[in-house]
Amino acid sequence: MDKQRFCESCRRFINVEYLYCPWCGVEKDHSLDLQESIEQSSKEMEIILKEDNLQRMEEILNQIDRDMLELMLSREKKKF
Ligand SMILES: [Zn+2]
Repeated sequence: MDKQRFCESCRRFINVEYLYCPWCGVEKDHSLDLQESIEQSSKEMEIILKEDNLQRMEEILNQIDRDMLELMLSREKKKF
């Protein structure tokens, strides 16, 4: 199975073999893998909770949902 990683800049999934993010053009070295990205989001969320910034938190949760959905869909596709 192809490994996927997150683009640090736009947070979309990219195949690890890509040197650049096809979505926003950011270089590979600046990107994080899935786990790191989720960890970073949780840290970000802690800070946001302290700041009581609910709107920003909602944005991050929605982004995580979308990323998870993309991951599941890309796995589904590979079964066929
Ligand atoms: Zn990107």
